[in-house]
Amino acid sequence: MKKEKTDVLVIGAGPSGSVAAAYLFNEGFSVKVVEKNKFPRFVIGESLIPGCMDHFEAVGLLDCLNAKKFEVKTGARFLQGPKVCEFDFSKKHTKGWDWTWQVPRAEFDKTLTDELLRRGVDIEFEKEVTAVEFKENYSITTIVDEEGNPYEIEAKFIIDSSGFGRVLPRLLDLEKPSEIPKHSSIFTHVKDIRRPEGWEGHRITFDIVSQETWLWVIPFSNGYTSIGYVGPTEYLESFEGSTEDRLREMMKLSNHYQDRFEGLPYEFEPKMIENIAKSVKQLYGKGFVLTGNSAEFLDPVFSSGVTFATESAHLSAKLIAKELRGETVDWETEYSQYMLEGVNVFSTYVKEWYTGNLQKIFFTDSENPVIKEQICSVLAGYVWDKTNPFVKNHHRLVRTVAHITDMEKENAGL
Ligand code: FAD
Repeated sequence: MKKEKTDVLVIGAGPSGSVAAAYLFNEGFSVKVVEKNKFPRFVIGESLIPGCMDHFEAVGLLDCLNAKKFEVKTGARFLQGPKVCEFDFSKKHTKGWDWTWQVPRAEFDKTLTDELLRRGVDIEFEKEVTAVEFKENYSITTIVDEEGNPYEIEAKFIIDSSGFGRVLPRLLDLEKPSEIPKHSSIFTHVKDIRRPEGWEGHRITFDIVSQETWLWVIPFSNGYTSIGYVGPTEYLESFEGSTEDRLREMMKLSNHYQDRFEGLPYEFEPKMIENIAKSVKQLYGKGFVLTGNSAEFLDPVFSSGVTFATESAHLSAKLIAKELRGETVDWETEYSQYMLEGVNVFSTYVKEWYTGNLQKIFFTDSENPVIKEQICSVLAGYVWDKTNPFVKNHHRLVRTVAHITDMEKENAGL
Protein backbone atom coordinates (compact mmCIF):
# COMPACT_ATOMS: atom_id res chain seq x y z
CA MET A 1 0.00 0.00 0.00
CA LYS A 2 1.19 3.52 -0.88
CA LYS A 3 2.45 5.41 2.20
CA GLU A 4 3.23 9.12 2.59
CA LYS A 5 4.73 11.15 5.43
CA THR A 6 3.94 14.67 6.59
CA ASP A 7 4.34 16.82 9.69
CA VAL A 8 0.65 17.70 9.82
CA LEU A 9 -2.34 16.06 8.18
CA VAL A 10 -5.42 18.29 7.85
CA ILE A 11 -8.73 16.49 7.29
CA GLY A 12 -11.16 18.68 5.31
CA ALA A 13 -10.61 21.79 3.18
CA GLY A 14 -13.36 24.09 4.49
CA PRO A 15 -12.43 27.46 6.08
CA SER A 16 -11.07 25.73 9.15
CA GLY A 17 -8.78 23.34 7.25
CA SER A 18 -7.67 26.11 4.88
CA VAL A 19 -6.70 28.53 7.65
CA ALA A 20 -4.83 25.81 9.58
CA ALA A 21 -3.01 24.60 6.47
CA ALA A 22 -2.10 28.16 5.42
CA TYR A 23 -0.59 28.95 8.81
CA LEU A 24 1.54 25.80 9.00
CA PHE A 25 2.65 26.08 5.38
CA ASN A 26 3.67 29.74 5.96
CA GLU A 27 5.68 28.57 8.97
CA GLY A 28 7.60 26.09 6.84
CA PHE A 29 6.12 22.78 8.03
CA SER A 30 5.10 20.01 5.68
CA VAL A 31 1.32 19.89 5.61
CA LYS A 32 -1.07 17.71 3.66
CA VAL A 33 -4.80 18.40 3.27
CA VAL A 34 -7.17 15.59 2.30
CA GLU A 35 -10.69 16.53 1.26
CA LYS A 36 -13.51 14.08 0.63
CA ASN A 37 -15.29 16.15 -2.03
CA LYS A 38 -14.40 17.69 -5.35
CA PHE A 39 -14.52 21.52 -5.12
CA PRO A 40 -16.61 23.57 -5.67
CA ARG A 41 -19.03 21.77 -3.36
CA PHE A 42 -22.10 23.11 -1.59
CA VAL A 43 -21.92 23.77 2.13
CA ILE A 44 -24.14 25.97 4.30
CA GLY A 45 -22.77 28.79 6.49
CA GLU A 46 -22.96 31.82 4.24
CA SER A 47 -23.22 34.85 6.49
CA LEU A 48 -19.87 35.50 8.14
CA ILE A 49 -19.19 37.69 11.18
CA PRO A 50 -16.24 40.09 11.44
CA GLY A 51 -14.20 37.99 13.89
CA CYS A 52 -13.15 35.61 11.12
CA MET A 53 -11.45 38.42 9.17
CA ASP A 54 -8.60 38.51 11.70
CA HIS A 55 -7.73 34.91 10.86
CA PHE A 56 -7.96 35.18 7.08
CA GLU A 57 -5.78 38.28 7.32
CA ALA A 58 -3.21 36.66 9.61
CA VAL A 59 -2.60 33.76 7.21
CA GLY A 60 -2.61 35.93 4.08
CA LEU A 61 -5.95 34.82 2.64
CA LEU A 62 -7.72 38.18 2.56
CA ASP A 63 -6.54 39.40 -0.85
CA CYS A 64 -7.85 36.41 -2.79
CA LEU A 65 -11.22 36.76 -1.04
CA ASN A 66 -11.36 40.52 -1.60
CA ALA A 67 -10.81 40.02 -5.32
CA LYS A 68 -14.04 38.00 -5.55
CA LYS A 69 -16.22 41.00 -4.66
CA PHE A 70 -18.48 39.04 -2.35
CA GLU A 71 -21.37 40.97 -0.80
CA VAL A 72 -20.02 43.14 1.99
CA LYS A 73 -21.82 42.60 5.29
CA THR A 74 -21.80 45.47 7.77
CA GLY A 75 -24.34 44.29 10.30
CA ALA A 76 -27.41 42.23 11.10
CA ARG A 77 -31.10 43.01 11.13
CA PHE A 78 -33.72 41.30 13.27
CA LEU A 79 -37.45 41.64 12.54
CA GLN A 80 -40.26 40.74 14.91
CA GLY A 81 -43.64 41.72 13.48
CA PRO A 82 -43.48 45.52 13.02
CA LYS A 83 -40.37 45.84 15.24
CA VAL A 84 -36.88 46.17 13.77
CA CYS A 85 -33.55 45.82 15.59
CA GLU A 86 -30.41 46.59 13.62
CA PHE A 87 -26.82 46.02 14.62
CA ASP A 88 -24.11 48.01 12.85
CA PHE A 89 -20.69 46.37 13.32
CA SER A 90 -19.01 49.78 13.27
CA LYS A 91 -20.85 50.61 16.50
CA LYS A 92 -19.44 48.03 18.84
CA HIS A 93 -17.56 47.99 22.13
CA THR A 94 -14.52 46.00 20.99
CA LYS A 95 -12.09 47.38 18.45
CA GLY A 96 -11.78 45.14 15.42
CA TRP A 97 -13.23 44.45 12.01
CA ASP A 98 -16.53 46.16 11.35
CA TRP A 99 -17.39 44.31 8.17
CA THR A 100 -17.18 40.91 6.56
CA TRP A 101 -18.95 39.09 3.72
CA GLN A 102 -22.06 37.15 2.77
CA VAL A 103 -20.84 34.36 0.52
CA PRO A 104 -21.97 31.41 -1.55
CA ARG A 105 -19.71 28.96 0.24
CA ALA A 106 -18.98 26.79 -2.82
CA GLU A 107 -17.17 29.73 -4.41
CA PHE A 108 -15.74 31.07 -1.16
CA ASP A 109 -14.18 27.77 -0.09
CA LYS A 110 -12.84 27.10 -3.59
CA THR A 111 -11.22 30.55 -3.58
CA LEU A 112 -9.35 29.59 -0.42
CA THR A 113 -8.17 26.21 -1.73
CA ASP A 114 -7.23 27.67 -5.15
CA GLU A 115 -5.03 30.19 -3.38
CA LEU A 116 -3.42 27.48 -1.22
CA LEU A 117 -2.76 25.31 -4.28
CA ARG A 118 -1.27 28.32 -6.07
CA ARG A 119 1.17 28.76 -3.18
CA GLY A 120 2.13 25.10 -3.28
CA VAL A 121 0.12 23.61 -0.42
CA ASP A 122 -0.48 19.88 -0.96
CA ILE A 123 -4.28 19.43 -1.14
CA GLU A 124 -5.87 16.27 -2.47
CA PHE A 125 -9.57 16.24 -3.34
CA GLU A 126 -11.90 13.25 -3.47
CA LYS A 127 -9.90 11.53 -0.77
CA GLU A 128 -11.81 10.27 2.23
CA VAL A 129 -10.33 9.51 5.63
CA THR A 130 -11.71 6.19 6.82
CA ALA A 131 -9.50 5.10 9.74
CA VAL A 132 -6.83 6.41 12.10
CA GLU A 133 -4.39 4.57 14.31
CA PHE A 134 -2.32 6.41 16.92
CA LYS A 135 1.21 5.15 17.74
CA GLU A 136 3.63 6.52 20.35
CA ASN A 137 4.80 9.62 18.43
CA TYR A 138 2.86 9.58 15.19
CA SER A 139 -0.38 8.41 13.61
CA ILE A 140 -1.27 6.37 10.55
CA THR A 141 -4.36 7.55 8.70
CA THR A 142 -6.07 5.45 6.05
CA ILE A 143 -7.41 7.38 3.07
CA VAL A 144 -9.56 5.98 0.27
CA ASP A 145 -9.26 7.63 -3.14
CA GLU A 146 -12.04 8.18 -5.71
CA GLU A 147 -11.50 4.69 -7.15
CA GLY A 148 -11.75 3.04 -3.75
CA ASN A 149 -8.01 2.40 -3.38
CA PRO A 150 -6.69 2.79 0.17
CA TYR A 151 -3.37 4.42 1.05
CA GLU A 152 -1.78 5.62 4.29
CA ILE A 153 -0.40 8.87 5.63
CA GLU A 154 1.97 9.00 8.57
CA ALA A 155 1.73 12.31 10.44
CA LYS A 156 3.12 13.82 13.62
CA PHE A 157 -0.14 15.69 14.11
CA ILE A 158 -3.69 15.52 12.74
CA ILE A 159 -6.00 18.53 12.57
CA ASP A 160 -9.54 17.29 12.15
CA SER A 161 -11.38 20.04 10.24
CA SER A 162 -13.91 17.68 8.70
CA GLY A 163 -16.98 19.74 9.67
CA PHE A 164 -20.16 17.68 9.97
CA GLY A 165 -18.11 14.74 8.66
CA ARG A 166 -16.84 14.66 12.29
CA VAL A 167 -14.17 12.12 11.41
CA LEU A 168 -12.25 11.83 14.70
CA PRO A 169 -15.27 12.31 16.99
CA ARG A 170 -16.80 9.29 15.21
CA LEU A 171 -13.66 7.15 14.99
CA LEU A 172 -12.51 7.88 18.55
CA ASP A 173 -15.95 7.86 20.20
CA LEU A 174 -15.74 11.52 21.26
CA GLU A 175 -19.34 12.53 20.46
CA LYS A 176 -21.35 14.07 23.30
CA PRO A 177 -24.98 15.32 23.23
CA SER A 178 -25.18 19.11 22.93
CA GLU A 179 -26.92 21.25 25.56
CA ILE A 180 -28.44 23.42 22.85
CA PRO A 181 -32.13 22.69 22.03
CA LYS A 182 -32.75 20.29 19.13
CA HIS A 183 -33.16 22.50 16.08
CA SER A 184 -33.23 21.71 12.39
CA SER A 185 -33.08 23.79 9.25
CA ILE A 186 -34.39 23.81 5.65
CA PHE A 187 -32.74 26.11 3.11
CA THR A 188 -32.13 26.88 -0.56
CA HIS A 189 -31.03 29.67 -2.93
CA VAL A 190 -33.26 31.80 -5.17
CA LYS A 191 -32.60 34.25 -7.98
CA ASP A 192 -33.70 37.37 -6.10
CA ILE A 193 -35.41 39.26 -8.93
CA ARG A 194 -37.52 41.35 -6.54
CA ARG A 195 -34.66 42.46 -4.30
CA PRO A 196 -35.21 46.08 -3.23
CA GLU A 197 -32.61 48.61 -4.31
CA GLY A 198 -30.26 50.07 -1.73
CA TRP A 199 -28.68 48.97 1.49
CA GLU A 200 -30.44 45.70 2.05
CA GLY A 201 -27.62 43.57 0.68
CA HIS A 202 -25.29 44.65 3.44
CA ARG A 203 -27.19 42.88 6.19
CA ILE A 204 -28.38 39.39 6.97
CA THR A 205 -32.02 39.56 8.05
CA PHE A 206 -33.48 37.31 10.71
CA ASP A 207 -37.27 37.31 10.46
CA ILE A 208 -38.57 36.05 13.79
CA VAL A 209 -41.66 33.97 13.12
CA SER A 210 -42.06 32.69 16.68
CA GLN A 211 -39.82 32.56 19.75
CA GLU A 212 -38.06 29.44 18.46
CA THR A 213 -38.56 29.72 14.71
CA TRP A 214 -36.93 32.14 12.33
CA LEU A 215 -36.11 32.71 8.70
CA TRP A 216 -32.76 33.90 7.36
CA VAL A 217 -32.42 36.03 4.24
CA ILE A 218 -28.84 36.42 3.01
CA PRO A 219 -28.37 38.37 -0.22
CA PHE A 220 -25.25 37.61 -2.31
CA SER A 221 -23.49 39.93 -4.74
CA ASN A 222 -24.27 37.53 -7.65
CA GLY A 223 -28.01 38.36 -7.51
CA TYR A 224 -28.94 35.18 -5.66
CA THR A 225 -30.19 35.07 -2.07
CA SER A 226 -30.04 32.30 0.49
CA ILE A 227 -33.27 31.65 2.39
CA GLY A 228 -33.61 29.18 5.23
CA TYR A 229 -35.80 28.32 8.18
CA VAL A 230 -34.55 27.20 11.57
CA GLY A 231 -36.83 25.81 14.25
CA PRO A 232 -37.46 22.92 16.62
CA THR A 233 -36.99 19.62 14.80
CA GLU A 234 -40.53 18.39 15.51
CA TYR A 235 -41.96 21.69 14.22
CA LEU A 236 -40.10 21.45 10.90
CA GLU A 237 -41.12 17.80 10.64
CA SER A 238 -44.79 18.71 11.16
CA PHE A 239 -44.87 20.19 7.63
CA GLU A 240 -45.73 17.62 4.96
CA GLY A 241 -44.38 16.78 1.54
CA SER A 242 -41.00 17.35 -0.04
CA THR A 243 -38.50 19.79 1.44
CA GLU A 244 -39.65 22.25 -1.26
CA ASP A 245 -43.31 21.85 -0.20
CA ARG A 246 -42.30 22.42 3.41
CA LEU A 247 -40.16 25.48 2.75
CA ARG A 248 -42.87 27.02 0.54
CA GLU A 249 -45.44 26.53 3.32
CA MET A 250 -43.04 28.03 5.88
CA MET A 251 -42.34 31.04 3.67
CA LYS A 252 -46.06 31.89 3.93
CA LEU A 253 -45.48 32.50 7.66
CA SER A 254 -43.20 35.45 6.90
CA ASN A 255 -45.14 38.67 6.48
CA HIS A 256 -41.94 40.41 5.42
CA TYR A 257 -40.73 37.97 2.77
CA GLN A 258 -43.71 35.99 1.50
CA ASP A 259 -44.34 38.30 -1.46
CA ARG A 260 -40.70 38.78 -2.40
CA PHE A 261 -40.01 35.06 -2.83
CA GLU A 262 -43.51 33.84 -3.77
CA GLY A 263 -43.45 31.63 -6.85
CA LEU A 264 -39.72 32.06 -7.55
CA PRO A 265 -38.03 28.81 -8.55
CA TYR A 266 -35.67 27.32 -6.01
CA GLU A 267 -32.15 26.84 -7.37
CA PHE A 268 -31.97 23.40 -5.79
CA GLU A 269 -34.29 21.10 -3.88
CA PRO A 270 -34.13 22.61 -0.37
CA LYS A 271 -31.74 20.75 1.89
CA MET A 272 -32.66 19.80 5.42
CA ILE A 273 -30.19 19.37 8.27
CA GLU A 274 -31.67 17.85 11.39
CA ASN A 275 -30.56 18.36 14.99
CA ILE A 276 -27.83 20.81 14.11
CA ALA A 277 -26.01 21.27 17.44
CA LYS A 278 -22.95 19.08 18.00
CA SER A 279 -20.57 18.65 20.90
CA VAL A 280 -17.59 16.52 21.90
CA LYS A 281 -16.09 15.07 25.08
CA GLN A 282 -12.67 16.61 24.39
CA LEU A 283 -11.17 19.02 21.85
CA TYR A 284 -7.70 17.47 21.60
CA GLY A 285 -5.67 14.38 22.41
CA LYS A 286 -2.16 13.11 21.88
CA GLY A 287 -1.31 13.83 18.26
CA PHE A 288 -4.63 15.37 17.24
CA VAL A 289 -6.88 18.39 17.63
CA LEU A 290 -10.46 19.07 16.58
CA THR A 291 -11.33 22.39 14.96
CA GLY A 292 -14.45 24.05 13.51
CA ASN A 293 -17.64 22.06 13.23
CA SER A 294 -15.83 18.84 13.85
CA ALA A 295 -15.41 20.07 17.42
CA GLU A 296 -18.51 21.99 18.42
CA PHE A 297 -21.46 23.57 16.64
CA LEU A 298 -24.10 25.57 18.48
CA ASP A 299 -26.79 26.98 16.21
CA PRO A 300 -27.05 29.07 13.04
CA VAL A 301 -28.56 32.02 14.93
CA PHE A 302 -25.88 34.77 15.07
CA SER A 303 -23.78 33.09 12.33
CA SER A 304 -20.82 32.16 14.52
CA GLY A 305 -19.80 28.91 12.74
CA VAL A 306 -17.07 30.08 10.35
CA THR A 307 -15.59 32.41 12.97
CA PHE A 308 -15.21 29.58 15.49
CA ALA A 309 -13.90 27.37 12.68
CA THR A 310 -11.15 29.85 11.78
CA GLU A 311 -10.39 30.86 15.38
CA SER A 312 -9.87 27.23 16.43
CA ALA A 313 -7.90 26.45 13.26
CA HIS A 314 -5.58 29.42 13.66
CA LEU A 315 -4.96 28.79 17.36
CA SER A 316 -4.42 25.03 17.01
CA ALA A 317 -2.04 25.54 14.09
CA LYS A 318 0.02 28.01 16.19
CA LEU A 319 0.18 25.51 19.06
CA ILE A 320 1.17 22.63 16.77
CA ALA A 321 3.95 24.77 15.29
CA LYS A 322 5.16 25.49 18.82
CA GLU A 323 5.14 21.81 19.74
CA LEU A 324 6.86 20.74 16.52
CA ARG A 325 9.62 23.25 17.33
CA GLY A 326 10.16 21.42 20.61
CA GLU A 327 8.37 23.84 22.94
CA THR A 328 5.88 22.64 25.53
CA VAL A 329 2.21 23.28 24.93
CA ASP A 330 -0.44 23.08 27.61
CA TRP A 331 -3.30 22.02 25.35
CA GLU A 332 -5.81 22.11 28.19
CA THR A 333 -5.37 25.78 29.02
CA GLU A 334 -3.94 27.15 25.79
CA TYR A 335 -6.49 25.45 23.52
CA SER A 336 -9.40 23.73 25.22
CA GLN A 337 -10.13 26.26 27.97
CA TYR A 338 -9.62 29.20 25.63
CA MET A 339 -11.95 27.82 22.95
CA LEU A 340 -14.58 26.76 25.48
CA GLU A 341 -14.60 30.24 27.02
CA GLY A 342 -15.71 31.67 23.67
CA VAL A 343 -18.11 28.80 23.01
CA ASN A 344 -19.69 29.33 26.45
CA VAL A 345 -20.26 33.04 25.80
CA PHE A 346 -21.91 32.32 22.48
CA SER A 347 -23.94 29.45 23.86
CA THR A 348 -25.45 31.80 26.48
CA TYR A 349 -26.60 34.06 23.63
CA VAL A 350 -27.98 31.13 21.65
CA LYS A 351 -29.82 29.70 24.67
CA GLU A 352 -31.13 33.10 25.78
CA TRP A 353 -32.31 33.78 22.24
CA TYR A 354 -34.55 30.74 22.40
CA THR A 355 -35.75 31.43 25.99
CA GLY A 356 -36.88 34.80 24.60
CA ASN A 357 -34.71 36.87 26.98
CA LEU A 358 -32.43 38.20 24.27
CA GLN A 359 -35.38 38.95 22.02
CA LYS A 360 -36.81 41.15 24.82
CA ILE A 361 -33.54 43.13 24.88
CA PHE A 362 -33.34 43.40 21.08
CA PHE A 363 -36.91 44.61 20.64
CA THR A 364 -37.28 46.85 23.69
CA ASP A 365 -38.78 50.30 23.17
CA SER A 366 -36.17 51.85 25.47
CA GLU A 367 -32.93 50.90 23.74
CA ASN A 368 -29.69 51.57 25.65
CA PRO A 369 -26.89 52.48 23.19
CA VAL A 370 -24.08 51.28 25.49
CA ILE A 371 -25.67 47.89 25.99
CA LYS A 372 -26.29 47.69 22.26
CA GLU A 373 -22.62 48.30 21.45
CA GLN A 374 -21.56 45.65 23.95
CA ILE A 375 -23.96 43.06 22.53
CA CYS A 376 -22.90 44.07 19.01
CA SER A 377 -19.31 43.04 19.85
CA VAL A 378 -20.53 39.58 20.80
CA LEU A 379 -22.50 39.33 17.55
CA ALA A 380 -19.36 40.38 15.65
CA GLY A 381 -17.53 37.41 17.20
CA TYR A 382 -15.37 39.26 19.74
CA VAL A 383 -16.30 36.91 22.57
CA TRP A 384 -12.93 36.84 24.32
CA ASP A 385 -12.85 40.55 25.19
CA LYS A 386 -13.29 40.62 28.97
CA THR A 387 -13.52 44.44 28.97
CA ASN A 388 -16.99 43.84 27.59
CA PRO A 389 -19.40 43.23 30.49
CA PHE A 390 -21.64 41.27 28.11
CA VAL A 391 -18.71 38.86 27.65
CA LYS A 392 -17.38 38.84 31.19
CA ASN A 393 -20.77 38.44 32.88
CA HIS A 394 -22.63 36.87 30.00
CA HIS A 395 -24.69 34.45 32.12
CA ARG A 396 -25.97 37.02 34.55
CA LEU A 397 -26.19 40.15 32.46
CA VAL A 398 -28.44 38.93 29.64
CA ARG A 399 -30.99 37.62 32.15
CA THR A 400 -30.78 40.71 34.36
CA VAL A 401 -31.26 43.15 31.50
CA ALA A 402 -34.16 41.07 30.14
CA HIS A 403 -35.74 41.18 33.60
CA ILE A 404 -35.32 44.98 33.81
CA THR A 405 -36.88 45.27 30.35
CA ASP A 406 -39.88 43.27 31.61
CA MET A 407 -40.21 45.55 34.67
CA GLU A 408 -40.00 48.69 32.55
CA LYS A 409 -42.77 47.35 30.37
CA GLU A 410 -44.88 46.53 33.42
CA ASN A 411 -44.34 50.00 34.89
CA ALA A 412 -45.31 51.58 31.60
CA GLY A 413 -48.50 49.50 31.74
CA LEU A 414 -47.75 47.71 28.45
P1 FAD B 1 -16.81 22.59 6.58
O1 FAD B 1 -16.89 23.89 5.93
O2 FAD B 1 -18.05 21.77 6.67
O3 FAD B 1 -15.68 21.74 5.84
C1 FAD B 1 -15.42 20.40 6.22
C2 FAD B 1 -14.84 19.67 5.03
O4 FAD B 1 -14.42 18.37 5.46
C3 FAD B 1 -15.85 19.45 3.92
O5 FAD B 1 -15.40 20.02 2.71
C4 FAD B 1 -16.01 17.93 3.85
O6 FAD B 1 -16.19 17.46 2.53
C5 FAD B 1 -14.68 17.44 4.43
N1 FAD B 1 -14.77 16.09 4.98
C6 FAD B 1 -15.81 15.55 5.69
N2 FAD B 1 -15.55 14.27 5.98
C7 FAD B 1 -14.32 13.99 5.46
C8 FAD B 1 -13.52 12.81 5.41
N3 FAD B 1 -13.93 11.64 5.97
N4 FAD B 1 -12.30 12.87 4.78
C9 FAD B 1 -11.89 14.02 4.19
N5 FAD B 1 -12.63 15.16 4.19
C10 FAD B 1 -13.83 15.15 4.83
N6 FAD B 1 -21.80 29.54 9.92
C11 FAD B 1 -21.58 30.85 9.71
O7 FAD B 1 -20.47 31.34 9.96
N7 FAD B 1 -22.58 31.65 9.21
C12 FAD B 1 -23.82 31.17 8.94
O8 FAD B 1 -24.69 31.92 8.48
C13 FAD B 1 -24.07 29.80 9.19
N8 FAD B 1 -25.30 29.26 8.91
C14 FAD B 1 -25.49 27.92 9.14
C15 FAD B 1 -26.76 27.38 8.89
C16 FAD B 1 -26.99 26.03 9.13
C17 FAD B 1 -28.35 25.45 8.88
C18 FAD B 1 -25.94 25.21 9.63
C19 FAD B 1 -26.16 23.76 9.89
C20 FAD B 1 -24.69 25.74 9.85
C21 FAD B 1 -24.45 27.10 9.62
N9 FAD B 1 -23.20 27.66 9.85
C22 FAD B 1 -23.00 29.00 9.67
C23 FAD B 1 -22.07 26.86 10.31
C24 FAD B 1 -21.10 26.54 9.17
O9 FAD B 1 -21.72 25.70 8.25
C25 FAD B 1 -19.88 25.85 9.75
O10 FAD B 1 -19.57 26.35 11.01
C26 FAD B 1 -18.63 25.98 8.89
O11 FAD B 1 -18.88 25.54 7.59
C27 FAD B 1 -17.53 25.16 9.55
O12 FAD B 1 -16.39 25.14 8.74
P2 FAD B 1 -15.43 23.88 8.80
O13 FAD B 1 -14.25 24.26 8.00
O14 FAD B 1 -15.28 23.44 10.20
O15 FAD B 1 -16.27 22.71 8.08
